[in-house]
Amino acid sequence: MTVTFHGVRGSTPCHGHETHHYGGNTSCVSVRTANDVPIVFDLGTGVRYFGKQCNGTTPLRIVCLLTHLHYDHTLGLPFFEPLLRSETTLEIYAPKQPDGRTIRELFREKIKPPMFPVPLEQFAARIEFHEIGDDDFTIGNYSVRSRFVPHIGPTLGFRLGYDGASVTYLSDHQQPVGDTFSIGDGARELCEDVDLLIHDSQFTDEEFAMKQSWGHSTYAYARWVAETCRAKQLALFHHDPSRTDEMLTELTDQIACSTKVGVFAAREGQSVLVGA
Ligand SMILES: [Zn+2]
Ligand SMILES: [Zn+2]
Repeated sequence: MTVTFHGVRGSTPCHGHETHHYGGNTSCVSVRTANDVPIVFDLGTGVRYFGKQCNGTTPLRIVCLLTHLHYDHTLGLPFFEPLLRSETTLEIYAPKQPDGRTIRELFREKIKPPMFPVPLEQFAARIEFHEIGDDDFTIGNYSVRSRFVPHIGPTLGFRLGYDGASVTYLSDHQQPVGDTFSIGDGARELCEDVDLLIHDSQFTDEEFAMKQSWGHSTYAYARWVAETCRAKQLALFHHDPSRTDEMLTELTDQIACSTKVGVFAAREGQSVLVGA
């Protein structure tokens, strides 16, 4: 599997020389293999760049595994160029909502005038929605595991398996509040023995002390999850928009020096090969 980071920020896009190296687009990560359908985790503003890579492929079928509906994970959808073509099919797997509203309804409410010039149903592509929860299923030759994880609102994490290799995407994950780290059963089922763990690392310990209920994790907690679940590699992800390149490199070095897990900070445009 080739895992490519198209957007690595949380909360809001950012821009400027201080964030240029790691990039300013919000959450979007694609997974490709030689023969199977491309999979994309989340539809943050990074999905525009994934869309450019898809240009020229017709017909095009893409599967999106969407963690939740916060803007930083959905804002890129109407800017995803393949949606302008009738030969495109986009299948979106997203968390079912406790109030019974469908994901299609919720996107239709967001993507229409006056909030957006074109209503969702006028895009040429076919968009299909699948509402899921704690599930295990297959897409082509991929095995997919989805589990609800603690965040703000219904939120999924995903584990993708392919030909003996595995990648887990745990973008927004509320760290337990208090002195002791722990992990819920669902998140553990996603992370155990995974080859690449992409994990929320929005806050430093000092920031978390001020923002304990904002739904996110610290660098230290991401490291602890990776170690506890025996992940082989940890990609620090969902960088805070205020995190400069210099700070992020320094924090990553500190974490990498203190663990046997391979650690790197996800960077826009970076590709990682997982498995054969
Ligand atoms: Zn987020
Ligand atoms: Zn969120």
